[in-house]
Amino acid sequence: MRRHFENSDDVVAALAYARAQNVALSVRSGGHGISGRSTSDGGIIIDLSQMNSVEVLDRATGRIRVGPGARRGHVARALAQHGLAMSSGGCGDVGVGGRATAGGPGYLARNTA
Ligand SMILES: Cc1cc2nc3c(=O)[nH]c(=O)nc-3n(C[C@H](O)[C@H](O)[C@H](O)COP(=O)(O)OP(=O)(O)OC[C@H]3O[C@@H](n4cnc5c(N)ncnc54)[C@H](O)[C@@H]3O)c2cc1C
Repeated sequence: MRRHFENSDDVVAALAYARAQNVALSVRSGGHGISGRSTSDGGIIIDLSQMNSVEVLDRATGRIRVGPGARRGHVARALAQHGLAMSSGGCGDVGVGGRATAGGPGYLARNTA
């Protein structure tokens, strides 16, 4: 079963439902993870892709609020309108949720060589 979720209430309801089932539960943001943990065969997938809002809270400090289903492209477009940019990442389809939990490379990332 695959459902799209639009807000945290939807996610809370899905988690409550999932707890009552004897099936695998997966969480998906951009779906780029290669571990396969954001997908499921016969289980429940909480697909957060509709929760993709991006708000610039403070231009001066660069503080932003990003929905868990936003992709890097959503964030880059929103930041560009304020003259801001991200320091990592090159693929606009990668989800912020997965990057936040798994990390990632990018053109402006720190050189560790
Ligand atoms: C083709 C390709 C291109 C890539 N390009 C880049 C790049 O340019 N820059 C870069 O930095 N990285 C890149 N990556 C690596 C990418 O950052 C990681 O694979 C990242 O984990 C993908 O995140 P996602 O949300 O798209 O994936 P998903 O598959 O949705 O999620 C990955 C993992 O995080 C978990 N997760 C997702 N959202 C949440 C959430 N809200 N709360 C809790 N857990 C969550 C999932 O359950 C899963 O275990 C690339 C990967 C691929 C396959």
